[in-house]
Amino acid sequence: MTFNTTLDSIKTYEAGKPIELVVREYGIAPDQIVKLASNENPFGCSPKVKEAVRSIIDNMALYPDDSMLKLKTALAAKYGIDPKELVIGAGSDQVIEFAVHAKAHPGAKVLMNSVTFAMYEIYAKQVGAQIVRTASRVHDMDEFYALYTEHKPQIIFLCTPNNPTGDAIDADAMLSFIGKIDSDTLVIVDGAYMEYARFKNPAKAVEPRDLIARFDNVLFLGTFSKAYGLGGMRVGYGISRAPIIEALYKVRPPFNITTLSLEAASVALEDEAFVTECIADNFREMKRYEAFAAHKGIDIIESYTNFVTLSLPEEKNSSKIAQELLKKGMIVRDLSSYGLNAIRVTVGTAAQNDRFFELTNSLL
Ligand SMILES: *Cc1c(COP(=O)(O)O)cnc(C)c1O
Repeated sequence: MTFNTTLDSIKTYEAGKPIELVVREYGIAPDQIVKLASNENPFGCSPKVKEAVRSIIDNMALYPDDSMLKLKTALAAKYGIDPKELVIGAGSDQVIEFAVHAKAHPGAKVLMNSVTFAMYEIYAKQVGAQIVRTASRVHDMDEFYALYTEHKPQIIFLCTPNNPTGDAIDADAMLSFIGKIDSDTLVIVDGAYMEYARFKNPAKAVEPRDLIARFDNVLFLGTFSKAYGLGGMRVGYGISRAPIIEALYKVRPPFNITTLSLEAASVALEDEAFVTECIADNFREMKRYEAFAAHKGIDIIESYTNFVTLSLPEEKNSSKIAQELLKKGMIVRDLSSYGLNAIRVTVGTAAQNDRFFELTNSLL
């Protein structure tokens, strides 16, 4: 069978390996496996969320509230915006899909960092857009601006903090960059890890409210999958001016968020103390990775997220190291598909991190 030839150049997204696969392939018991591959919150979500989801478990026959009133009201209050400035997606991934499909034409250019979240390219290629990438590994706003003037892209992706490198853009530099972009170019600021950046250094964080107050061409993305510990519930959101949100709604399928997920995300916002505690723990534990890397002479990019990226010396092949770890029940992310000889490791609980140091001590 032949397919839409626009899809020919797409490489299917490679997700972090699930625990179930390691159980099947290596015969390791599930409780012996540590997954530090997908930047999930190792403490899970607030106990209040679990209670709330249990209490509505009998409500599965009816379609969800497609206006998503409860979640939108809670998010609008948190960010000081209007509910009309919000769209909810099955993960912020889905909001990226909406945005690319709503904005980019075949042949349009989409500008992004050399090393960044893999889904930008996949969605852009689905609509026949062309990818333009910077040369630098970390976001350099001058380089972005030069490529913007050369290529006039329809969409610019700024992933800050960036996955999979962990670096974050200075808020001032980003705001002055966006101020120079014409209003028909959509600037997507992916803040999947913004809660971590805001905690570590406010100069590396932007508030969605400020972005949309200043600019009519910015879409901010947030997610419940990382700091809020709800990766399995698939809830993310976009914040932008109403005309952009209205365009995104034209490509949204109805009932894209389940009743349980809507409830989980709404209640998660009521327990910010839980999230803040998890983030504080994350940066305490991250210091141990920094010390480990220094001890081993391994390069580490300063991280504003819940993961660290370890750039390995040439003689240590990242794919081999990841494979060795997998056999021992430790799942990390090999970054060779991004053109890096590096592994990305999610900061886990103290016990999970202990295990990582123990297993890698002889390998790295
Ligand atoms: C995890 C992640 C997302 C999206 O995650 P969802 O689970 O789809 O909300 C988006 N962008 C980046 C950079 C991420 O790391």
